[in-house]
Amino acid sequence: MSQASINQICIIGVGLIGGSLARALRQAGFCQEIIGGGRSSDNLKQAVALGVVDRFQTDLAKAVADADMVVLAVPVGAIKPVLSAIKDKMKPNVILTDVGSTKASVIADVKAILGHVPSGFVPGHPIAGTEKSGVAAAIADLYKDRRVILTPLSETDRNSTDLVRAMWECTGAEVSEMSAEHHDEVLAATSHLPHLLAFSLVDTLAQMDEQTEIFKFAAGGFRDFTRIASSDPVMWHDICLANHDAIMKILDRFTTDLDELKSALNNSDSSKILEIFKRARAARDRYTQSEQ
Ligand code: NAP
Repeated sequence: MSQASINQICIIGVGLIGGSLARALRQAGFCQEIIGGGRSSDNLKQAVALGVVDRFQTDLAKAVADADMVVLAVPVGAIKPVLSAIKDKMKPNVILTDVGSTKASVIADVKAILGHVPSGFVPGHPIAGTEKSGVAAAIADLYKDRRVILTPLSETDRNSTDLVRAMWECTGAEVSEMSAEHHDEVLAATSHLPHLLAFSLVDTLAQMDEQTEIFKFAAGGFRDFTRIASSDPVMWHDICLANHDAIMKILDRFTTDLDELKSALNNSDSSKILEIFKRARAARDRYTQSEQ
């Protein structure tokens, strides 16, 4: 299959990520028709009204029937039921990909439900998003100059990977390839742990008696640090459970380091405190400079 033969794409889960992909693909003219699939017709009707997809189907088996490419853009906890619904209903040479924030779990779900890894299966993850959800938040340039990671397997056909790569490149993204295990470790550290900490910090403060007073006087630093605690709880619940092992590993490391800082503070060890803060600021400066 070549890019020219991608006539119809079916995106299951037309929310922030699936909807933004649809918008970008339409803008780039990547395919002739985009079908939206999902559970609620209200969300999908809105997707059609906003011009995000051409038409929709809540019957997922019908949604994928004529698609040359199927993109799973649902929370990772919903991958299994969605695969069960579309199993044996997709075209034999379909390209199947996903946008899930965890990769080993999605691959395990594909093996469990389909019984094998089809040669057209290309796991993927766009490293882009916001704390917002739903199709109304979808924007065409969400992926512009952002990274997308593909984690093809030994069973994945090179041509399928190239087609999924071409799809993301036409959204303006830069595509990298790595193993699913490496992806899950890297993302546990850079994305999953920060979300867990943001949810936990806000929850701790919200349970304190003085919460009204605390939030009233919270300043920009609190807003910056906690923005991601406005993310969808179901999506993050699914991600934490799906990437449990890698998150536990980095959480253990973080807890050890936090204990070290706590002990430095307890002992009024100013050189230790300064050493940690200076090292952290230098690392963040390097990161922000490399982003420019
Ligand atoms: P979202 O805005 O909530 O969209 C998810 C969509 O999935 C909704 O439109 C929902 O529509 C549909 N859905 C949920 N459960 C379903 C089910 N059982 N069957 C069929 N459709 C279902 O979430 P999102 O932020 O786009 O996230 C989607 C995926 O992208 C997740 O796997 C997430 O890990 C990944 N991701 C997210 C981000 C981010 O920053 N948000 C970044 C990268 C990757 P209905 O309720 O109408 O079914």
